[in-house]
Order: sequence, then C-alpha cells, then structure tokens
Amino acid sequence: MVNQTKMGIIAIIAVIPLASFAVWNTDQPVESFESGSKTQEINVLASFYPIEEFTKKVGKDKVNVSLLVNPGVEPHDWQPSIKDIQRMQKSDLIIINGLGIENWADDISAINPDVTVVDTSYGIATIKVNPESNLDIFGNEPKEFTTDPHIWLNPITIKIQVQNIADALIELDPENGNYYQNNADSYKLELDILDKKIREELSKCNKDFFAFHNAFAYFALEYGLNQHTVLKSIDPFEDPSPKDIREVIDLAKTLETSVIFTEEFVNPKVSQVIANEIGSKVLFLSPLEFGDENKTFLERMEQNLDNLKVALCN
Ligand SMILES: [Zn+2]
Repeated sequence: MVNQTKMGIIAIIAVIPLASFAVWNTDQPVESFESGSKTQEINVLASFYPIEEFTKKVGKDKVNVSLLVNPGVEPHDWQPSIKDIQRMQKSDLIIINGLGIENWADDISAINPDVTVVDTSYGIATIKVNPESNLDIFGNEPKEFTTDPHIWLNPITIKIQVQNIADALIELDPENGNYYQNNADSYKLELDILDKKIREELSKCNKDFFAFHNAFAYFALEYGLNQHTVLKSIDPFEDPSPKDIREVIDLAKTLETSVIFTEEFVNPKVSQVIANEIGSKVLFLSPLEFGDENKTFLERMEQNLDNLKVALCN
C-alpha cells in the first residue's frame, strides 16, 4: 500500500515537466501564484487548516499562504494530485504539521530536494499511540505503535509550531526577520492567555471526558485530564464495532459521564446512541482539522473549552 503510494508520487513527478509544458503552451496557468509574482510576497503552502492559520499569523501581509488540503477534505487520508505537486514545486516553502499526518511529505522531499518542507513538530515531545488498543504509552516504542500527530490542539505545543514557522520564514527572508518574530511573539502571547484560562477553568473539574476520535492526548496530558474516545482510531472515519460501542457505554456509565462528544463531518448517530444509553447529552469537541470561515482558530479553541466545562465542571 505504502509502496503503491510512493510509486504513484514518483509517476506524478515524472509527468510534471510535460504537464507544465502543455500548460504553458495553452496559456492556461493552473496556478494562481504566477499572477501574483509582481509582488515580493513569499508563497507558502500550508498542509491543512491549523498550519495555514498559524502561518498566516506569523507571515501576515508579507506571506501569501495557500491551503494544500482543500477545505472539507480530511487531512488524515489526503494524497496529492498532479496539480497539488505542481503547486508544491512553485512554492517557496511547504509547511506541514509533521508526525506522519502528511504521509506524502517524506516522498516529496526525497524525490525532489528543491522543494523545502518545514516540519513544525520539530522539538515537540511526542505521544505514541497503539492503534489497536488506544493505549497511550510513554518512553517505549514497540514497532506497532504510531506517533500521535494532534499537537495543534495544545496551546503549549502550538507555540513551538509557531516558532518553527517563524524560524523558517526568517531564514528565507532575513530582511523581515524582526517582523516575523514579532508576529510570532504576539500570537504566542495569545496562546499563553488561552493556556492560563484553560488551566484555571478546568483545574477544579472532573478529569474524564469522551472525545469522538483520539485527537486530544496532547491537550489531556497538558491539563491533567483523561481522554477516552468513542472511536479507538486516530483517524475519525473508522466505524466502531458494536463491541466497541458497548465498551464505551460501560465505561461512560462507570464514570457517570454527562456529555459524549462528537465532531464535524462525522456520523453524529454514533455519539447519540451512546448518550441515549446513559442519559447524557451530545456536544461538539472539534479536533480543528477543518477551517471555519466565521471563527478564528483561537475562538474555536475557546468554544471547545466552553463545551469541556459543560462536560466536566457541573
Ligand atoms: Zn485527527
């Protein structure tokens, strides 16, 4: 499966020079970056929504940030098309979350060293996940364990991601180094305020919550909470078996859980079935993997906090 994907990417790369030539000859640019080339702007591709938002906060009006994974497409399973690889080749930087969620990125940089990929997870202590048992372990790395990529849900790890983005932009455009660093510092200040608020508001509450998919391990570890999940997977589109659902119901009953969480773009019935069984309600706890035009990333983090307070602080 992995080899097939790799072969697919190699084949796509091999086709690009021809494809580009055809595009030039027909005077139909497939990529809007070219029309903006009069400006001095840096063109950056951000892999998916949180990375796009963080990059915009650091680059502001000196960086043209485009989203690689289209809005509404689940980043866990995305693979680049020919057009996406063309966009990658024309960008100054590709900024990714890292930790395996962009499983195409290693192939891209191995095959085409001219494409600069910035991994924002650099320097973050990672959490390992057993996809079968949903058991987090620390300091132990058996082969079947994978790395949990959901670092964008913890304000403290986001600060490291933001600094990694700033460092990459400063290296590319040192003349505006202070500008990028100041923008990063302001955003990190906002993240500190949010962090303090989460810490204070959840400190005297219950600790056990039921997220939909396994996305909140970094958040839970940071704030001393215990994440349980409706799905065992780190991928939100797995169907739970009746046995899985029964286990969740039993545990939620034992813990006297008042809220079962669901999230955007998944089947809400799964959480509803469990909630009905135990007489609890269903609320949203967003893994923030998709953008929302009406709210900023931090506003949505606050929304998650409000719903966690309903679940934990009654
Ligand atoms: Zn996820």
